[in-house]
Amino acid sequence: MKTLCILGSTGSIGTQALDVARAHSLPVVALAAGTNAALLEEQIRAHHPKLAALADETAARDLRVRVADTDTKVLSGDEGILACAACGADTVLNAIVGVAGLAPTLCAIAAGSEIALANKETLVAGGTLVTDAAAAMDVKILPVDSEHSAIFQALQGAPNTHSVQRLLLTASGGPFFGYTKAQLESVSVADALQHPNWAMGAKITVDSASMFNKALELIEAVRLFDIPPERIDVVVHRQSILHSAVEFADHSVIGQLGVPDMRIPIQYALLYPQRVPCPAPRLDLTAYGTLTFEDPDDETFPAIHLARHAVALGGLATAAFNGANEQANALFRAGDIHFLRIAQLVEDALGAYLHEINTQSGYTIADVLNTDVWARRFVSLAARKG
Ligand code: NDP
Repeated sequence: MKTLCILGSTGSIGTQALDVARAHSLPVVALAAGTNAALLEEQIRAHHPKLAALADETAARDLRVRVADTDTKVLSGDEGILACAACGADTVLNAIVGVAGLAPTLCAIAAGSEIALANKETLVAGGTLVTDAAAAMDVKILPVDSEHSAIFQALQGAPNTHSVQRLLLTASGGPFFGYTKAQLESVSVADALQHPNWAMGAKITVDSASMFNKALELIEAVRLFDIPPERIDVVVHRQSILHSAVEFADHSVIGQLGVPDMRIPIQYALLYPQRVPCPAPRLDLTAYGTLTFEDPDDETFPAIHLARHAVALGGLATAAFNGANEQANALFRAGDIHFLRIAQLVEDALGAYLHEINTQSGYTIADVLNTDVWARRFVSLAARKG
């Protein structure tokens, strides 16, 4: 039985990962999160990890008091999160939101743990720093994102990478698919948080509405499968039943289907390569009847186009892209900018990146994190100027 560390255990992916762990009696050795002491206490009492950590110092102090009667050691701050990541679990599932997940991923790789990766920002910002570190340690990165899990599953048994012609990355289109720019001018945060198919954390739900989630996933696919962006097509599939597919040289297309329930890809990553019953419901295709496929509207939603541009720029451009989007997404959720400003600010940040940073190779994690800080500051200042 593989031992498990879950980073971001109190979030949408983290709690579903614990459902899977419970269903298969997987031993949980470490749990880490940001601020939610009450939920982490419940998780500690249910799973008895040796280690737990909260990034927020005050919340960690509260947690220490709450679980003083257990054998779990409670750590705090970024060092506490890194200690959990480096605890030597067989698998570290990283479900932290945002670039805060990058250093823990690198720590877990350095400790030789297999990575079940939900935190796509790790690959977008960290780029080849992460994939090179994993290759050097001979550590597997198993995708948790449903689209990348689908591609990974479709690739099982492929003779070699030359047999892959294209990746088909499916997108639900989010709550605003079909909207015009004029309609998007007046959408609210509450509107953006209404995803048609998935219940997820707030940041990724807004990313889905702006299509930045698909843009981040395109870059994630470039990194995970070592394939250029021009061989990745995005297809809008409103029902979220086909989770993505691979087109091979013989024009066979192999995809993975299932109900939109993250416990399926989470379980595949945690138990890979086993296939055993999952707590998620079965797919009844006749209940859906019709599955539809459409082109994305890249003019109204420029995020995917911007992601392709960031990959073409190379170096730290995808770190700038990710940092700019994280900040713009947060400003939108705080009510400080309107929806259409998100893509404008990311585009402006990429333009400024070319003049101010434009590092091509030989970068370190410090360079990635400095670029992230630079992009966030750029976006905040630009948003304030209006
Ligand atoms: P949530 O917002 O629901 O959860 C985020 C988790 O990260 C929480 O446990 C939060 O802790 C924790 N966290 C936040 N900041 C820190 C930090 N600095 N250090 C440690 N922990 C921290 O997000 P989701 O679960 O929706 O998404 C997580 C990741 O998975 C994202 O990268 C997302 O893109 C990806 N993903 C999510 C999917 C989904 O269905 N939700 C699908 C595919 C990918 P707390 O709440 O205690 O503050």
